Amino acid sequence: AIDVQGLRKSFGELEVLRGIDFSVARGEVVCVIGPSGSGKSTLLRCVNLLEEPSAGRVTVAGTEVTDPDVDIDLVRRRIGMVFQSFNLFPHLTALENLTIAQRRVLHRDRPEAERIARANLERVGLSDKASAYPAQLSGGQQQRVAIARALSMDPELMLFDEPTSALDPELVGDVLAVMRGLAQDGMTMLVVTHEMSFAREVADRVVFMDGGVIVEEGTPERVVGAPQHERTRTFLARVL
Ligand code: ATP
Ligand code: MG
Repeated sequence: AIDVQGLRKSFGELEVLRGIDFSVARGEVVCVIGPSGSGKSTLLRCVNLLEEPSAGRVTVAGTEVTDPDVDIDLVRRRIGMVFQSFNLFPHLTALENLTIAQRRVLHRDRPEAERIARANLERVGLSDKASAYPAQLSGGQQQRVAIARALSMDPELMLFDEPTSALDPELVGDVLAVMRGLAQDGMTMLVVTHEMSFAREVADRVVFMDGGVIVEEGTPERVVGAPQHERTRTFLARVL
């Protein structure tokens, strides 16, 4: 579903990604871990061209997004993105937050958009919050609305960038449970996270990044349980 080859990204003099090769197969869940500043968010942002790669090839769902002629809006439509901040429209209800892009981008009519929205609110455990405004929801509920919004666009894959790191600890579990459910339903997921227990339980593969390169990758048992590299061990000793 995602294929990245020789990806490099610089901001001026600063080379943030220094040759990244990796892929995510259909239905696979890959967790990216690594220290702050290692380039995890930049990698995710290069996958849907929120950042333009300096070099390399990125292919998403069969389309090379680094092809200069690509219609990137068409590609982005197939990718669900969930960030640390929820970015819900504050003046719209949960239901309206889920229907607006369906109507504008996918041109679904109101009844269909609302039917799909309600199904996805139910999927994230928020059927009773359809009429609530974001300010009336907890952070964890807002993040689940953001996930439901992404799901309402029928994405082929989902990118998550530390979806729980802005949440109070007691709200993290509900969001991770929703993500675990998506993984079980076969969603293709690329997840940047500091939640090592989630990575251990849910990921098919864990990628450890440091200094703009992939230091090691493999099953969670290998990378988190028995890391081969000193840098991975140092990182894990700090976060576990
Ligand atoms: P964190 O765990 O803190 O989220 P990260 O691994 O996601 O870190 P990135 O956000 O990818 O790290 O940033 C990697 C490096 O790139 C950092 O040194 C950051 O300051 C730099 N960087 C990121 N975006 C930009 C930008 N738009 N302009 C300049 N530098 C940037
Ligand atoms: Mg980041």
